Amino acid sequence: LMNLTKKLIEIRSMLLSIDQSDALKLPSIVVIGSQSSGKSSVLEAVVGHEFLPKGNNMVTRRPIELTLIHTPGAAAEYGEFPALGLGKITDFSDIQKTLTDLNLAVPASEAVSNDPIDLRIYSPHVPDLTLIDLPGYVQIASMDQPETLKEKIAQLCDKYIREPNIILAVCAADVDLANSPALRASRKVDPLGLRTIGVITKMDLVPPEQGATILAGNRYPLHLGYVGVVAKSSGKRSRRDDMALVAQKGERDYFGAHGEIFGSTTSLMVGTDTLRRRLMEVLESSMASSLHGITNAVQLELEEATYQFKVQYNDRRITAESYVAETMDALKLRFKEATSQFKRPAIRAKLKEMLDDKVMDVLEQLYWLDKRAPELGGLGQDPKVRPEDVEPYWRHKLEAASSLLTKSGVGRDSTLLVANGLRSLIDSIAAAEPFNFHPRAAERLVQFSHMILRDRIGVTSDQVENCIKPYKYEVEVEDREWESGRQSAIDLFEKEVTMCEKKLKDIRQKVGGSRRLGGLVRYVQEIEEKEKAKKTKRLMAPEDENTEEDSSVDYRYPAAQIHDARHAILYTDRLSILKLRLAALRSKRCKAGPSNDVLCPEAFLNVVADKLAYTSAMFINIELLDQFFYQFPREIDSRLLYDLDRKEIVEFARENPVVRRHLDLQERKDKLEEVMKQLNSLSTLRTDAQPAPRRH
Ligand code: GDP
Repeated sequence: LMNLTKKLIEIRSMLLSIDQSDALKLPSIVVIGSQSSGKSSVLEAVVGHEFLPKGNNMVTRRPIELTLIHTPGAAAEYGEFPALGLGKITDFSDIQKTLTDLNLAVPASEAVSNDPIDLRIYSPHVPDLTLIDLPGYVQIASMDQPETLKEKIAQLCDKYIREPNIILAVCAADVDLANSPALRASRKVDPLGLRTIGVITKMDLVPPEQGATILAGNRYPLHLGYVGVVAKSSGKRSRRDDMALVAQKGERDYFGAHGEIFGSTTSLMVGTDTLRRRLMEVLESSMASSLHGITNAVQLELEEATYQFKVQYNDRRITAESYVAETMDALKLRFKEATSQFKRPAIRAKLKEMLDDKVMDVLEQLYWLDKRAPELGGLGQDPKVRPEDVEPYWRHKLEAASSLLTKSGVGRDSTLLVANGLRSLIDSIAAAEPFNFHPRAAERLVQFSHMILRDRIGVTSDQVENCIKPYKYEVEVEDREWESGRQSAIDLFEKEVTMCEKKLKDIRQKVGGSRRLGGLVRYVQEIEEKEKAKKTKRLMAPEDENTEEDSSVDYRYPAAQIHDARHAILYTDRLSILKLRLAALRSKRCKAGPSNDVLCPEAFLNVVADKLAYTSAMFINIELLDQFFYQFPREIDSRLLYDLDRKEIVEFARENPVVRRHLDLQERKDKLEEVMKQLNSLSTLRTDAQPAPRRH
């Protein structure tokens, strides 16, 4: 029948790991008593080792769930803290140290914690038992303990002494039982003493007759009775671990010396061995009587979990591993889909756009701001002017413009443009579901993609720069290229015209109509004229300075409107030159072909930009994109996937709340199924065992 207790203790641990609700609890023995009542000594006597934290101010601050597992025939005894993953601890002083650390880790302000420490001890010398050691009741709180300590400990004990637990009330023989907080607490929840065992410690400190009277229990009767012990070693300890043995010898000596009172002829229960046996019996019968109820409770929970699993997940099972694998596959797929944005024509178009901007900048700098620009338009209109007759001034201009464009750092700019596109693609993947649930993985994803990019950017931009080098010296233009360059120059200019017109319109609306704007513009031009005149005057006669100071400043218009007017002037000037150039681009002369490049720099520069875009796209494709698309999925495998151990995989999966809920329910259902299976096998075991006479 002992097998039953062992099995049920296993089941109890499993149930505890399913949930902490009272419904699914099998009984355990809860040890309560006031400080210094000898609680630790009793527990250590039962285990046969010194392992509990000692020290002046060392009260137990967390409950210890102590599971003893009888291992018949095993050579070694050891302890385990399953939650800590420290493995088997064979030296009991290490267990003591760990428990001390765990207790000291409870912040002083909290004093006690409700969070139990799970400790298992495997030994051939221990019975199968589960014991819960609780902080001792405080009689008088010492100065450095918080006021609420007494209260908190009492609450904690109240929580544990509820049904179905068995209460082990530890009282010292030399203290009046009437004053025992343990018995008082037990009476509140178990008035008949049906599940309370009294342990009277320090029997050696009172006269044997007095001790016997206490054990007889007539004053405070307990159904399960009292056991008297002497748990403190009286002799000297020779070796550290012998302590418990020495203590037992002292106990045997003491009760032996008073055989007439405590001997086998009396019905009194004394000694640690008796206590152990008593605990086993009581726990076993309590477990046995809980069996039916717990089986029903588990059955109900299991049905509910099974139902929920069906309804919510249609019985679909997942594992952390499968989730991780799916997530990585989805990531690769997502990435692959997104890469279509990076096909060569798309890249070329993007680069061309960037280069168009550059072309416009160059034109503005070298042509539009040049006062002679209208001259160029005139030359183009004149059929008598042959391209080779045009002044060298314009030839130089064109060469300067072309070289400004080809030497503007196209390699670097175009590489960065594409690299930034890749970067924002990865950033958006990392920020979206499911990676928003996995901040650490998302960060790694971003990190290693940046790393690949960093690696490739230098090489790529050098390579591109190298390949466009010939254009820095000479650009050959074919007729077909010229025509398409001319067309796109026209498009660009038309867009620019529209943009300028829109700006002008906005300004007109803002200042309140075209008449008002006209007035403003004239006013601004006047001021500018005046200022110019003043400047020349000052230049001619500097000694005349500060004669008449700014008397001319008037405040006819607000500053913001003057600002607008200045912009309006700029846009108007820009519009007139743009229109001139558009006319030139549409002229017969420009249409005639590349020989007119000097007269149609816009078309020429457009062709150059096109060639640059084409070449850049080709080499960016080889050096950056191909490499990135090759490396990225491999890095996902090596840095996100294969890097994870089992624990990290579970952690990763559980970061996603949807997956976490799924896994939780699935696990709960599995555990309940397992418990149910074990409970069922037990009930057959019990029916078989039923006829055997029960000890009592
Ligand atoms: P706890 O605070 O309730 O855990 O009590 P301890 O087990 O630490 O014991 C308090 C003190 O009582 C210690 O000094 C023990 O050595 C002593 N003590 C415990 N059991 C006995 C006993 O049976 N006889 C004697 N004489 N002293 C004991």
